[in-house]
Amino acid sequence: MERRLQGMGLLPASFSGQGGIRPAMARLAPFASMLLLTLLIAAMTVVPSAAEPLQARDYKLAGDAERVRLVIWFDREPDLHYLLLRGPHRLVIDLPATDFLIEPAALKPRGLVSGVRFGNREDGTARMMLTAKGPFAVEKLEVIPNEAAPGFRLVADIVASSDADFDAALADQAATTGSTAAPKTDRLKGPASDKPFTIVIDAGHGGIDTGAAGVGGTREKAITLAFALELRQRLAANGNYRVEMTRETDEFLALDERVRRARAFKADLFISIHADTIRFKGIRGATVYTVSDKASDADSAALASRENLADAIGGIKIEEDNQQVADILIDLIRRETHTFSMRFARSLIGELSNSKVELINNPLRAAGFRVLRAPDVPSVLVELGYLSNASDEAQLNDPQWRGKAIESIAGAVALFAEARSVSGG
Ligand code: ZN
Repeated sequence: MERRLQGMGLLPASFSGQGGIRPAMARLAPFASMLLLTLLIAAMTVVPSAAEPLQARDYKLAGDAERVRLVIWFDREPDLHYLLLRGPHRLVIDLPATDFLIEPAALKPRGLVSGVRFGNREDGTARMMLTAKGPFAVEKLEVIPNEAAPGFRLVADIVASSDADFDAALADQAATTGSTAAPKTDRLKGPASDKPFTIVIDAGHGGIDTGAAGVGGTREKAITLAFALELRQRLAANGNYRVEMTRETDEFLALDERVRRARAFKADLFISIHADTIRFKGIRGATVYTVSDKASDADSAALASRENLADAIGGIKIEEDNQQVADILIDLIRRETHTFSMRFARSLIGELSNSKVELINNPLRAAGFRVLRAPDVPSVLVELGYLSNASDEAQLNDPQWRGKAIESIAGAVALFAEARSVSGG
């Protein structure tokens, strides 16, 4: 796509240059000259005046910490290309001289993008630079004609990725464009098969978002962190896994930031740990949830909306744009990822049941948890028990019970990791 853009874009650029076209045409066969002339005429019909700077008329950035879409509207087809830079992770879009008619207020950083700058340079070109919160991948970057109005727009989809993927894209870039932004080779990772099976443990809530409160005063954010740290230790003892945490301290994290971190770690499995409350104090036991845009039952739907409130508690507004992106994401959840999430969830229920960890009725459930929506990471959310139930709360605070639950999770992880390595996935 990028090559096509550059090729098309060359026409108006050469046309505005000093006599570059005629000598070039003289060397071409008659047919090619005709073709070039036709293309030039075609280009001229959409280019008001190639000597005038390009106009960037509007700009929009929508999305969250895991995925953003950038749209820039131009008065005509821009001759652009992009490159990646590291330290910090940046996306650079190079343009010809451009009038930026964009409201500075519109450039507010958002989601994955922590800064946006643009300007014209002394050499007569312009540059736009987006700084990201971490490694990312340019999933799509294309220039398309506007449907309802004249002009063209750039549409770029940028998604959180891992350092290894970012470095691979940098290496590709160095190979294909001779860019000076080549990566340091010591940062390049080996082939994917060398990568250890990576588990990211997500301790629910944190910081200002305390989560549920137990009848005896236990705070969900504290018990999830304690459990997650013990689970990490147990999984790391295996020696074959890489085990990472979304948080290791009492820190507030937006839900999409948890997903972004999981993808940055290139997680093969994401386990979010929670301990909810419910009105009926008699209800107890563990539940394993997978993501679904349709909840398996009313209680699961209610729980998901409570868990999704974490962002509101942290003062994060889910704007309409983000919601749209979230909907697209739900569509993007690959069937395969979901199959793997379900496989792990079922096996985890089996392990918990074998080790006599109490489960609620129908312990495998689904709902629209925002934290489970990485399209390419099998993800489950485990509600260890109900803090509204005195027995469950006591168990959650009992190291022996936690050890039993952790053994069950470790058993399910081992089965899952083994199956993945056999299938080469
Ligand atoms: Zn929770």
